[in-house]
Amino acid sequence: MSRTQHPQTLRHAVTVSGRGLHSNKPCRVTIHPVEQPSGIRFLHGPSGIEIPAKADLVGELTLATTLSKDGLRFGTVEHLLAALMGLEIEHALIEVDSEELPILDGSAGPWVDALVNAGTRSLAGPRRMIKVLRPVEVSAQGKWMRVSPYSGLRLRYTIDFNHPAIGRQSRELSLTPEKFRRELASARTFCMEQDIEFMRSKGLALGGSLENAVVFPANGKSALNDALRYEDEAVRHKMLDLVGDLALLGAPLQGLVEAHAAGHALHVALVKALLDDTQAWGWTEAGIQTPVRHVFGHRISSTQPLPA
Ligand SMILES: [Zn+2]
Repeated sequence: MSRTQHPQTLRHAVTVSGRGLHSNKPCRVTIHPVEQPSGIRFLHGPSGIEIPAKADLVGELTLATTLSKDGLRFGTVEHLLAALMGLEIEHALIEVDSEELPILDGSAGPWVDALVNAGTRSLAGPRRMIKVLRPVEVSAQGKWMRVSPYSGLRLRYTIDFNHPAIGRQSRELSLTPEKFRRELASARTFCMEQDIEFMRSKGLALGGSLENAVVFPANGKSALNDALRYEDEAVRHKMLDLVGDLALLGAPLQGLVEAHAAGHALHVALVKALLDDTQAWGWTEAGIQTPVRHVFGHRISSTQPLPA
């Protein structure tokens, strides 16, 4: 269970610079604290256009999660979102001067280090969370995801790659900031060597290297990188991506999330399916066991009948 009873933001602003994985363009990101609970929002400094981290603003989903609005896009937002959600910093303004966030070392580790250095601060009021009340599932081509009721946030992820260096990997954990930092944050993004030529031909992965991704050769038993950070680094990175994509709910989640052979597209499909099924979830506040629903400004307990 979370220890945080109030919404959290940063104590100080923090700036991180680097290059985009796909564009290889330089990008400077400043994460600012906010004064009121207002979720996570991206701000394009040069144009002043703001894009909240919300599922209905997701654009492109191949190889990364992209937010788009008013002709502007922010690519590869998921690792920063994962770091924020993993540390329970659910309210921040992220000012960006380019359209793709820096890939850094391919994990959420450098983002976590920057956020930990900046420190956290509580905002007034209760920490509002989305509590799952009944299961919701999505599936496509043998891949599936399900979210079901659970007190806390628990993730269960399985991947099954027909590749000798990856194979089948499963991991399960109840998320806390400590576990996020220790077990998921440093896991790097990964790809197959044969995919690189294809991505480059599409103008993607131009900034990719062994410095920011684990690369598996076609049939080899080990990665081209010197060493993996975890034996099952691949499934841990998938879980990191999932934590980042769950930020698109717009509020922290209480539920069990199971994923089988999923990726960004299915993560976002699950987020949208849950939000669309308004009978499947309710609002709850940290420290309260019974979910509450806010209807026309009145708060009612879910044990009371709900208006149609
Ligand atoms: Zn990733």
